[in-house]
Amino acid sequence: MAKKECEKCAKAYRLMYRVQYKPIKEWVFLCNDCVIEVRKDNEDYRYGGTWKG
Ligand SMILES: [Zn+2]
Repeated sequence: MAKKECEKCAKAYRLMYRVQYKPIKEWVFLCNDCVIEVRKDNEDYRYGGTWKG
């Protein structure tokens, strides 16, 4: 099965979340743990879907 590398922790997972979390409007793939971390009190956080390998 395909895996993607998390933009933040650099680990590869089969289930990823497509999000924006920086002032720069750029879509990146993050793992579940990193999504939980970055979305706290984050006005730049935006969810764009789930990716499954
Ligand atoms: Zn991660």
